[in-house]
Amino acid sequence: MAVKKNVVLLGATGSIGESTLTVLRHAREELELIGIAGNTRGERLAEIAREFDVRHAAIADESTYRDCVEAGTFPGTCRLSCGTEGITELASLPEADIVLVASSGTAGLRPTLAAIEAGKDIALANKEILVLAGKFVTTAAKAHDVRLLPVDSEHNALFQCLEGRRPEDVSRLVLTASGGAFVDWPLEDLKQVAPEDALRHPNWSMGRKITIDSATMANKGLEMIEAHWLFDIAPGRIEVVLHRQSIIHSLVEMVDGSILAQLSPPCMTFAIQHVLRYPHRAPGVRETLDFKRIHRLDLEPVCPDRYPCLGLARHALEAGGVAPAVFNTANEVAVETFLENRLSFLEIPGVIERTLEGFDNFEPGTLDDVLDLEFSIRRKASELVKTYAWKKTS
Ligand code: NAD
Ligand code: MG
Repeated sequence: MAVKKNVVLLGATGSIGESTLTVLRHAREELELIGIAGNTRGERLAEIAREFDVRHAAIADESTYRDCVEAGTFPGTCRLSCGTEGITELASLPEADIVLVASSGTAGLRPTLAAIEAGKDIALANKEILVLAGKFVTTAAKAHDVRLLPVDSEHNALFQCLEGRRPEDVSRLVLTASGGAFVDWPLEDLKQVAPEDALRHPNWSMGRKITIDSATMANKGLEMIEAHWLFDIAPGRIEVVLHRQSIIHSLVEMVDGSILAQLSPPCMTFAIQHVLRYPHRAPGVRETLDFKRIHRLDLEPVCPDRYPCLGLARHALEAGGVAPAVFNTANEVAVETFLENRLSFLEIPGVIERTLEGFDNFEPGTLDDVLDLEFSIRRKASELVKTYAWKKTS
């Protein structure tokens, strides 16, 4: 029989956060939401606290926190705290069993490590954490004997296919990629695309940053790095294949040539439910696949010229050290600038490449080595984007 679990949700107001709430609404007897965190959407966070009768909440942004305290936005039964410290405390609440990390960027790193040290299982959506600090996070998880359960749909698929397999029986991990918003656009037309075009994903509804990353395939690059850390597999044995329908979430090739796959509709509730209920199964909250409506499941090679960010990510993964962190932060800066209409879509890979060239790689000895570096990568990439001075011509 499944035991009731107490869940803490970091990034409750985001896209993964909302999908998690959908799963929780259908499992009130088995999963109890005891803590929630967000950044600036105080009102929405308070609504969630009321709906689920949540006892602990934390807000990263100080002025949002102050506004909420002054306005009495949260119910009196909910203890509200603030900043990274508040979120870290929330992630290590004594009564928590599992912490679902769905915050964006790298702000969730310290709270995640604190949760691991407190012995909590981690359901990880926030891939940037592993890209930046995979070595430290996976070492801590082993040392504290906690599970790192992947929420990212590809890694969740790989996790399901790999379960019970011996590592020596596996030859390749194959991540599927939808191709993003411009999969069929002529390359020439990409010079003038606007953020609104790139934000129109053909299959998935997600946060803004990850939707742009899907269009450039920087997301798939981050996912290769994520797979390397989660499954302890050499970079050369991780591949990417284009799969437009986003129904096959990834594939595992065994040494004898058999390939295993996991399929479900393109909706994050499947992976979220899997990790929250793990190792048990329960009926899902969304419609399952309807084979009368699926006419094709295509797998095609990825065209490297269309997605240079993927090649840059592979280069960073193979280089190791801090190169993946440089790739991630340079990409963050480039995407923010593109979303502000100050950088052309096609210049995103150029910013990443030039930032990577500007750093001497080294193996970080401590987490602080990486965190200190993040600041200088951000500064370097921000200086670089200014040299592009792009204006969209309408
Ligand atoms: P989103 O932008 O919709 O939501 C981000 C959440 O993080 C919000 O709740 C926000 O309040 C919170 N947040 C932002 N800054 C914070 C800070 N400094 N401290 C604490 N909380 C902060 O993003 P999303 O699409 O839900 O993605 C979240 C993470 O999950 C990302 O790392 C993304 O790569 C990963 N992911 C998302 C999807 C998806 O379908 N959306 C799929 C796989 C992986
Ligand atoms: Mg994914």
